[in-house]
Amino acid sequence: MKNWSSLQQWTPTKIAYPGSEEAIVRLVRDAREQKMAVRTIGSGHSFTALCVTEEILVSLDKYQGVIAVDKENMEVSVRSGTKLFHLSQLLHQHGLALENLGDIDVQSIAGAVSTGTHGTGTAFGNLSTQVTALRFVDGNGNVVSCSVRENPELLRAARLSLGALGIITELTLRVVPSYKLSLQVEKARLDDVLEKLEEYEGGCRNFEFYWFPNTPFVMTKELRETGEAVTRNSVFTYAREMMLENYAFLAVCELGYRFPSWNRKLSAFAASTTGSSRKVDWSHRVFSTPRLVRFNEMEYSVPMEAYRSVMEALTRWVNKYNYDVLFPLENRFVRADDNYLSPAYGRNSAYVAAHVYHKKPHQDYFRELEAIFRDHDGRPHWGKLHTLDYPALHDAYPEFDRFCSLRQLHDPRGMFLSPYLRSLFQNVRQVHP
Ligand SMILES: Cc1cc2nc3c(=O)[nH]c(=O)nc-3n(C[C@H](O)[C@H](O)[C@H](O)COP(=O)(O)OP(=O)(O)OC[C@H]3O[C@@H](n4cnc5c(N)ncnc54)[C@H](O)[C@@H]3O)c2cc1C
Repeated sequence: MKNWSSLQQWTPTKIAYPGSEEAIVRLVRDAREQKMAVRTIGSGHSFTALCVTEEILVSLDKYQGVIAVDKENMEVSVRSGTKLFHLSQLLHQHGLALENLGDIDVQSIAGAVSTGTHGTGTAFGNLSTQVTALRFVDGNGNVVSCSVRENPELLRAARLSLGALGIITELTLRVVPSYKLSLQVEKARLDDVLEKLEEYEGGCRNFEFYWFPNTPFVMTKELRETGEAVTRNSVFTYAREMMLENYAFLAVCELGYRFPSWNRKLSAFAASTTGSSRKVDWSHRVFSTPRLVRFNEMEYSVPMEAYRSVMEALTRWVNKYNYDVLFPLENRFVRADDNYLSPAYGRNSAYVAAHVYHKKPHQDYFRELEAIFRDHDGRPHWGKLHTLDYPALHDAYPEFDRFCSLRQLHDPRGMFLSPYLRSLFQNVRQVHP
């Protein structure tokens, strides 16, 4: 087995594909009797070793689809293995949509919410905040349910739980009526965007930008809800996006890999290809774009108040010491929430993401950036590379102990803990890749 970037590679003893909640219960009870450990995998798009196990791996690819649509309460219940693109299509057929999404839509819904996957927009929390109820099979082999009305404390733990409480079988999500978005892409200067950040954020529904390292330039992306018709040049726009964001960028990455001294010029070249463009489409088709260039990624959330200082330190460091950075750094903004393990717990947050072409070493670069993020109370995205273990996580999350107690209650024998998860939730040392 491999994760998306191939950084994590492992061989489970067994891979199970249950197709119903009953089959998941049976599987957990059998594993418990045999004293085997279990890890669940969604689409394997996490960069960290979350899905790595040498024991039983459970894939829910055969457990997908919508269970119920409640238009009165604007809620939809889905099987946990449902892929996001499939979910968006099914919702669209009912005239519904998710209020926000990340950059891609190939993850499973349970995998995405379990790591706090997020998009951008200060009015929106990460995807887990859209979950109003869920069911999971815990380490005792019981089906447990919780919702905003029934056992809300457990919901705050379970909806972002890295598979550490058990296997989520069903999720109920808050949905909104289908809507169209216009996407406006522009080239701008980093200092201007940082200075006018509130204006940018306040002037649209979802704002993000990419900074081209070693240049003063950024690419801004502004999304606005619109009643306009879907732009007719969608096929052309798609082909252009595929070319620029994928194939042309792949060529740039390969050149940077073979000729590291060219990286500065290549970054400037990538910045120069950014122009003004606009398109209109249904929300789910605008949020996500295909990602064909493989990379490894680190992403930290920092409190909004610390963001400018983080960017100052980061741009200073990249411009001064690291001539070898090619991928633009992605900057997104997410509303505070109250999920125990959410990086945005208790604070409106800025998320800064750094990427390295998968063939190149990422460790030195990520170590330097991580030190800057950590100096500013940063919390890592659970699915993206970081080196934090129990003591640091315990310090970073005010409700970490509460989560650990619920984990202990629902999985007393630790059947959902792999060596990597033990390093997160128990006081043991582990060397991270
Ligand atoms: C190209 C790319 C783009 C990305 N873009 C974004 C982005 O825009 N925003 C963002 O925030 N993140 C992004 N990510 C990160 C990604 O969204 C997360 O890592 C997400 O968890 C991956 O979903 P998955 O289905 O592949 O889950 P996996 O990586 O397979 O699993 C993630 C975690 O969920 C657990 N899990 C899965 N299913 C269940 C279940 N049924 N019950 C209990 N636990 C379960 C697993 O055990 C594991 O701990 C991106 C990753 C890649 C590779």
